[in-house]
Amino acid sequence: MKSLQDNCGVFGLCSRTECVHDIFQGIDFLQHRGQEYCGISTFDGGIHQVSHYGKVANIFKYEELEYLKGRWGIGHVSLWERQPVRWQSRAGEIAVAFSGNIINADELIKDMKGRGKAFYKGYNIEIISKIIMEEPDVVAGICALSRKIKGAYCVVVLTADGIYAARDIYGFRPLILGQDSNRYAVSSESRAIQNLEMDVVRDVQPGEIVLINDKGFRTLARLDSPRRAHCAFEWAYTASLDSIIDGVSVQEARNQLGGSLAQRDMDGGGLEADIVAAVPMSGIGHALGYHQRSGISYQEVFLYNRYADRSYTLSSQKAREKMAKRKLAVLHYAVRGKRIVLCDDSIVRGTQIHYKVRDLKKAGAKEVHVRIACPPLMYPCDYGISTRSYEELSARHYFKTGNIASMEQLRDLEAWIANQIGADSVKYNSLDSFVRALGISREELCLKCWDGVNPTL
Ligand code: SF4
Repeated sequence: MKSLQDNCGVFGLCSRTECVHDIFQGIDFLQHRGQEYCGISTFDGGIHQVSHYGKVANIFKYEELEYLKGRWGIGHVSLWERQPVRWQSRAGEIAVAFSGNIINADELIKDMKGRGKAFYKGYNIEIISKIIMEEPDVVAGICALSRKIKGAYCVVVLTADGIYAARDIYGFRPLILGQDSNRYAVSSESRAIQNLEMDVVRDVQPGEIVLINDKGFRTLARLDSPRRAHCAFEWAYTASLDSIIDGVSVQEARNQLGGSLAQRDMDGGGLEADIVAAVPMSGIGHALGYHQRSGISYQEVFLYNRYADRSYTLSSQKAREKMAKRKLAVLHYAVRGKRIVLCDDSIVRGTQIHYKVRDLKKAGAKEVHVRIACPPLMYPCDYGISTRSYEELSARHYFKTGNIASMEQLRDLEAWIANQIGADSVKYNSLDSFVRALGISREELCLKCWDGVNPTL
């Protein structure tokens, strides 16, 4: 398992009929954004709420879905916190869910405690909710988030009026609106909307606050956005391949990133290889892009075990290694005697890719050339993705400080990483080619993982 994971996904839906089954499906389609907790709140004169530790598809009981009455509601999946959370506020009963991370959480808690507020555990959702509830209404509360919170967030608030949805003023995390003749929805990713057979309408804009009810969508405020800072990692890794974020298809972006890696090999005289393969599932779009640009055949070399599931948090390295083995079995017939180009999205510690290379070689691969869509990860994320610490970033073991300033430095690092993971060669996209392949202006992206620049400062 990689130590890069998004922490949450939010979903909201207003329907002419009971909404719970659509919300259940909506959060199931967002499960890849958070696998530990899930929850649904609906409004039916008051708020009904059920949340669980576990995955959406197999944790909600029939009676719970029956209990969640109402025509509008919100849902959440999370790696860290149980949400939505229900509150009695001066705006009436509300339920709140959010996706993101608060950098200045300690400072905010200290300030609020000093003003007499009590906290249960100091979870991010408590901070978000309390800031909202300090203001006279929900819109004023969401405006206050933009002034007080340093970090990234998308928030949905369930009320008697409908669902308030907002994206932070930088637009770090995606948030998308969809509709059909009977339903209006908001989702962390378009895939939930598409798979519920609704039309994708548009992205919520950074700083925009939208009310969703049975009359449709209404923009209630547009807060000033100093700049956009869409998380570039969404297209490379976090989002599902079938999503479209801020107008850019994730699949197309991954194909372009893989194509860019192939181009680098071609520009360097070409790489002699028999097959291009992916580390499932995150490397598939990149590997297909490499194959399309290079003309080298695409082949599966790992069989993904869809029944290998995580029923508890794996704390030890040994347990993680065992789980990784259960998840991906080598297809020996495809591998034996082959020179393989193996594509993946990124390298964090390098442990997992090391195992993959070792397994392929054990199965008889002649050569394994690793190609990585993202540039080397140099900085932890502050905005909701857990890269944990500098120590865990393998590139930092080579470059102790600073950034990679030239192709020569990148090549030195690649040779060192290849040696560490036992690959015949390693190549990454440089930061310039990464941004070019995404096709989004550099000024509109957060690239802090690679350049260390915090876009909010
Ligand atoms: S630091 Fe990296 S993972 Fe975090 S928001 Fe920026 S680009 Fe995304």
